[in-house]
Amino acid sequence: MSLKRKQPTATEYTEGILQGDRILLSRAITLVESKRPEHQAMAQDIIEQCLPHTGKSIRIGVTGSPGVGKSTFIEAFGGWLIKNENRRPAVLAIDPSSQMSKGSILGDKTRMEKLSAHPSAFIRPSPAGDSLGGVAAKTRETMLLCEAAGYDTILIETVGVGQSEIAVHGMVDFFLLLLLPGAGDDLQGIKRGIVEMADLVAINKADGDRVKLADSAAKDYRLALHLFPPKESGWTPKVLTCSSVEKTGMDRIAEQVNEFKSLAQANDWFGRNRQQQSKNWFYEMLERQLKKLFFSNDRVLQQLQLIEKQVVSGEISVANAVELLMELFKRSE
Ligand code: GDP
Repeated sequence: MSLKRKQPTATEYTEGILQGDRILLSRAITLVESKRPEHQAMAQDIIEQCLPHTGKSIRIGVTGSPGVGKSTFIEAFGGWLIKNENRRPAVLAIDPSSQMSKGSILGDKTRMEKLSAHPSAFIRPSPAGDSLGGVAAKTRETMLLCEAAGYDTILIETVGVGQSEIAVHGMVDFFLLLLLPGAGDDLQGIKRGIVEMADLVAINKADGDRVKLADSAAKDYRLALHLFPPKESGWTPKVLTCSSVEKTGMDRIAEQVNEFKSLAQANDWFGRNRQQQSKNWFYEMLERQLKKLFFSNDRVLQQLQLIEKQVVSGEISVANAVELLMELFKRSE
């Protein structure tokens, strides 16, 4: 953020965001993503002021292996939602790989060209961060700012290769898994637990000579989903096929999301799930802060390596080592 530019107050930021000012929204997200304490403090003030205006959206997680077509799908689906349901989609991402490689999903400017140019859409690449927890927290806060700015459909993309989809699942209402025709989920690097989390499975690339293959994959997955225990939400996940390139199947996917929302609102799962997510987020953040405090404590740092050595060589038990460090930590308060 340029220092020359005058920093608006938190109230000015909030007013701008509530009016849908995309520049102020983007700058506020930059504050959310910043490590500087004064930026963080300002970001938290803005989020707090925006809070009463958040939550009026459907939050959708989109996952699947690299190459399955997540970006292409979001471009097609987002466009469909704007055109047919007059919606305002915001696209965010959690990309654990960007922490290591610096290459990030949504980072490539050529992706989602049409959607990113559309005045009704807002696209923000995955934030960088030291830990998945930190990155997820930033995405969650960004989501709240987008909701305050009037975006009513939040699409959160993540690569289906590890812990990140669990983080995304913890912040969305509806979880969409994209798969390829013709290969089992084990071959696509998708863990069974991820399939189990899905509210909808869409076999993408159902076009050209892959239509038949996609149909038979859909059949297989329908059978497989039957074996999972019923969902707490009362929702029964379906398996559909789509083509993000030919933009087919978007209507049926949107229909599923809408049906889900009606059901989950009628049986109150929608609200209860969000409350539970907030509670989890609260404890996660608390734990993260405590951990940070502990491992940056001078007394702990002075002794940590020595005590670690003593544990490794068997001079001291793990429990006693932990006790010792906790005492050091507590004494320095
Ligand atoms: P991501 O890594 O999951 O985000 O995948 P991308 O959206 O970047 O797509 C990977 C490749 O698959 C690109 O070359 C897309 O053009 C192609 N692709 C995506 N969706 C479809 C589809 O529905 N049909 C076909 N034939 N190709 C697709």
